[in-house]
Amino acid sequence: MNAVEVQLDGVRGTRSTTSATELTPITTSCVLFTDWKNKKGYGQRWFRGRRIGAHRAAWIETHGPIPKGLEVNHWRCFQPACINVEHLRLATRRNNAKN
Ligand SMILES: [Zn+2]
Repeated sequence: MNAVEVQLDGVRGTRSTTSATELTPITTSCVLFTDWKNKKGYGQRWFRGRRIGAHRAAWIETHGPIPKGLEVNHWRCFQPACINVEHLRLATRRNNAKN
């Protein structure tokens, strides 16, 4: 897998649509997937026989299956290619659209 680490921009990293006080500081850099991206900039990879978002594959490898109706969203760094699971969370599609 091809990936590259980048340093986070601190301002973007603390942006939140809900409450900034709920956020703990990001201690890790983004890990950007560079191998294969779709038109929106999301990393894509083969995972268990299917092509899915690289960030989703990273989530599944760390936390297990994504519950039905939820998706993995970048709530900290807003980098579609980022596959650092510390920058990801599960959200409903409605919540994701708000971001
Ligand atoms: Zn990130």
